[in-house]
Amino acid sequence: MLKNVIAPIQAWLMSQGRCVGDGKPLSAGKRQKRKDGTEKVTCSCGRIFIYDTKSKKYRRALLEEV
Ligand SMILES: [Zn+2]
Repeated sequence: MLKNVIAPIQAWLMSQGRCVGDGKPLSAGKRQKRKDGTEKVTCSCGRIFIYDTKSKKYRRALLEEV
């Protein structure tokens, strides 16, 4: 049951450019440019996201991207 509630909230936070863990703006996170033109963003809570500079969207980093 809980998953059904959390997934839409996380999707909404991502669309707002916020961390799914603590809701902090990812613009304040530690940024690191990647070879493919995206940016790796590390939130202060340790969660890692990928920022697509073309579509200007955030997504969770995959295990192999961390
Ligand atoms: Zn966070």
